[in-house]
Amino acid sequence: MDYIKLAELYEKLESTTKRLEKTYLLSKFLEKTKKEVLDYVIYLLQGRVFPPWDERVIGFSSQLMLRAISKSTGISIRKVEDLWRRIGDLGNVAENLIGKKKQSTLFTKHVTVKKVVDNIRKLAEITGVGTVDKKISLVSELLTSAKPLEAKFIVRTVLEDLRTGVGEGTLRDAIAWAFLPKIIGIFYQCNECKEFVPAVKKCLNCNSQIELNFKKEVEKKFKGLKILKVKKISDLKNLKKYDLIICKDERLARDVYNYIIEELQHAYDLTTDFGVVAIKLIEKGLEGLKEISLVPGKPIKVMLYQKAEDIKDGFETVGKPAALEFKYDGFRLELHRKGEKIWLFTRRLEDVTKQFPDVVSYIKKAIKSKDFILDCETIGIDPKTGRWLPFQNISQRIKRKYDIQKMVKEIPVMVNIFDAMEVDGKNLLNVPFKERRKILEKIVKPIKDKIGLAEQIITSSEKEAKKFFQKALSLGNEGIMMKNLNAIYKPGSRVGYGVKVKPVLESLDLVITGAEWGRGKRATWLSSFVLACRDEEGNLLEVGKVGTGIKEKAEEGVSFEQLTKILKPLIIGQKGREVRVKPEIVVEVTYGEIQKSPSYSSGYALRFPRVVRLRTDRTVNDITTIGEIRNLYKKQHKK
Ligand code: ATP
Repeated sequence: MDYIKLAELYEKLESTTKRLEKTYLLSKFLEKTKKEVLDYVIYLLQGRVFPPWDERVIGFSSQLMLRAISKSTGISIRKVEDLWRRIGDLGNVAENLIGKKKQSTLFTKHVTVKKVVDNIRKLAEITGVGTVDKKISLVSELLTSAKPLEAKFIVRTVLEDLRTGVGEGTLRDAIAWAFLPKIIGIFYQCNECKEFVPAVKKCLNCNSQIELNFKKEVEKKFKGLKILKVKKISDLKNLKKYDLIICKDERLARDVYNYIIEELQHAYDLTTDFGVVAIKLIEKGLEGLKEISLVPGKPIKVMLYQKAEDIKDGFETVGKPAALEFKYDGFRLELHRKGEKIWLFTRRLEDVTKQFPDVVSYIKKAIKSKDFILDCETIGIDPKTGRWLPFQNISQRIKRKYDIQKMVKEIPVMVNIFDAMEVDGKNLLNVPFKERRKILEKIVKPIKDKIGLAEQIITSSEKEAKKFFQKALSLGNEGIMMKNLNAIYKPGSRVGYGVKVKPVLESLDLVITGAEWGRGKRATWLSSFVLACRDEEGNLLEVGKVGTGIKEKAEEGVSFEQLTKILKPLIIGQKGREVRVKPEIVVEVTYGEIQKSPSYSSGYALRFPRVVRLRTDRTVNDITTIGEIRNLYKKQHKK
């Protein structure tokens, strides 16, 4: 497939903010995509070249991009940089300069999707002498053959800054639309162009009026199309054979659609790979998704929990009796084992096995099974006092790649296992929590201060729960978790199967999307930082700027120097003193009040925001959502 087709799609996606339109455009494109390149196309649509679970990073900075553009256009780096300062986006710079260069030449070479992915993938793999030059050559090779529009999106993909607004949900729906029969009621056939389009008044294909009358639609003659009539969800079989689904009523149509979407989402939560999901769907239909299973060694998205105001509220969500556990203040780890091979993954799905040889050895000693996927919270222990350390103190262990044995001694950790997704080849996702815990009790033989099960009580009594909460806090925990005894394990979802109860008021986890160079003695530091939350689709929405809480000296906490150092390589746009950065750095922020504000894209602004700490355990996918901010705003006004 020629990359230009994808570039044209990106352009169209960029020009609309409407989710239905984006989904429709994507689904039409996917329908036409050959199976051989389908996974590549899907990753590129997500602005990546690897599936999201794959932790390889492209690691190509804006500075290298300036050189690559210069090399492929013959224009000096200084001139490229000047233009960048003026127009602020390196993708547009490349489009502009390559357009100028090629006005008189013919575009003889074709850039294929495969070539783009292959070259960018190589960027993540090259090491050793001459790395920088080799990397620049790989990118400039693409840019030299690229048409201006292609250049724009190649640059943005390499810089991991695609910005077409295609979130997980949109892509998931587009895959369902592309590869499964259309459901009447969710889709209507346009009388003009005969396309099946989503239920909006104007046809997304030809713009003519659509009559959204379910009864009439069902009675239509759909010549030459294979129709499956559905009376109940269990009639959904062999979908690959059909073009259309007609349900007995409109409500069932909606239920069938939701069911299909949930199946896709579940398959994605298990694999974190829409490439795999789409190919399974083409090959084996919806039934194929059931074959997707848990494989030790491949991380899955963990289940997340909701917040409860207090213990009473917690019981209301999870029911009585409930399991109460300490909410340890550490970092989440997935423990995987298959035979002699053991892997440890963070909740960002990064493989951190090498950083934790101590944990690997505890697993070998304490866990009887040799085939499992378990969920746990790992905390640091002060080797002098034996007390549990707050998260900040152990965060360095996650990143550390050298002197590991020294770190193991300096900051020993303790593993608190609280859930099991797979044991001895048995998928436990649909097994009730209390049974999963029993399995854990059978296979884990705790070793004091090293590895064990999360401290747990089962109770219906609020009094007892409060006592447990106090005990948890006095030992240095963040609070408690309250869990529904009969709940399943739902990867990737923040469902109310469990809630967390903490004593303090909310803080927000926000991602830094921009900053400003300081003045005077702070001129070499980035000073004021733009903060954003996310919507359900993963689009980032700004909620304000923060400078408070950041320290002059590194010893006192998060410092300007430290933030500048980590943000500088992430700069992807600059205008005057303002810079735009890749949204990767997450900070925890407290505030005085949330106010409505037209100045920021979220519609809200934080009063007196203050940075509390860096959240290195969080990605942009884990930050506070606009829904949560809206709720906090409402709550504030009730008080
Ligand atoms: P937070 O910032 O409050 O830790 P989070 O977004 O990281 O929240 P949530 O799912 O909302 O994650 O809250 C539960 C988190 O608490 C888990 O992700 C896990 O890291 C941690 N945790 C500590 N102890 C437990 C436990 N016993 N059971 C479940 N999670 C626990």
